[in-house]
Amino acid sequence: MQKIYFTVGPSQVYPTVYKHLDRAMKKDIPSISHRGTQFKEIFAGTTEDLKKLMNIPADFQIFFVSSALECMERTMQSCCQNTSFHIVAGSFGKAWANIATQLGKNAQSFVIQNNGEDELNGLKVPEKTEIICITQNETSTGLCIPMDKIIDLKKRNDNKLMAIDIVSSVPYVSIDFKYIDIAFFSVQKGFGLPAGLAVLIIGPKALEKTEKLIKKNVQIGSYHSFKNLFEKAKDYQTPETPNVLNIYLLNSVIKDMQKIGINKIRKDTDKKSKIIYDFFKKNTKYSPFIKNPIYRSKTTLVIDVLGKSGELRKKLAKSGFIIGAGYGANKENHIRIANFPAHSLKDIHAMLKHI
Ligand SMILES: *Cc1c(COP(=O)(O)O)cnc(C)c1O
Repeated sequence: MQKIYFTVGPSQVYPTVYKHLDRAMKKDIPSISHRGTQFKEIFAGTTEDLKKLMNIPADFQIFFVSSALECMERTMQSCCQNTSFHIVAGSFGKAWANIATQLGKNAQSFVIQNNGEDELNGLKVPEKTEIICITQNETSTGLCIPMDKIIDLKKRNDNKLMAIDIVSSVPYVSIDFKYIDIAFFSVQKGFGLPAGLAVLIIGPKALEKTEKLIKKNVQIGSYHSFKNLFEKAKDYQTPETPNVLNIYLLNSVIKDMQKIGINKIRKDTDKKSKIIYDFFKKNTKYSPFIKNPIYRSKTTLVIDVLGKSGELRKKLAKSGFIIGAGYGANKENHIRIANFPAHSLKDIHAMLKHI
């Protein structure tokens, strides 16, 4: 039986990946040298196309690393000497703050309550903060912070770096990079690719900060410091042997998405998420975990199913629909449903019929 993965990551593979993978193997992509012209072309093409798709300014750098957790660690190493401030709405935000603490930083957190009732409006960020770290779409709880709230916060804290985790909202999320210094994602969620590749989007102010730390003799890490990544990226390379196959596939999927158009992808995402949320409002006793609709994720939907998660997931799996359990302690209370570009309207209707 054909399965459809509505899990929030890894998730359903983007439909064209099978064909691209086939072509990549025929072209021997896994065997090519990561120091040769062919790889440099793949690197250049992928970063240029991503910049177009996501409207990333020309003076921003794109680095390839292996996971989003790695992006969190590299960001703290390369852009924070002492003090970071974390906006936490669930497990991934907490993980980022923990990484900072483990690296010896003074990581302070502001914890958002589940409904996110405009708590960010008057939020005071401590004076000494060097970098504000925000999980823009918190996959564990389905809380998504609207970009205008993040922009407001940056405007009020212009002297601090702004770093955002967009792992489970990309490519849907629309970002004005004037207000963002660092953004990152791994590819196994919204892009529907195999795991093991992540993308760091780094602005000029973040790189300046890295240079400042180097001058002060602060330890910024080794092969994957922003400095090292930048030096190699100038020549369309990575310090280590990267996941060439996945970079190739990422470029192929970005090209497919460009053909569809990012606006259409966003509109479809809005439409599909409305269908799912409306279904639960009308047809069941279950309800979205995030009460304030403004903070409700359109890409990773978390539904409170009153302890029936296991039962529901088993029932759906019998028909080939794989949906996510709740995260951590909410395993049995919640289901999580991904609404990525790989998920068609037809599949969503079919899945909902079985609930
Ligand atoms: C999945 C996820 C991560 C971790 O991604 P990895 O690639 O497994 O490191 C981090 N942040 C968010 C919001 C996620 O959804």
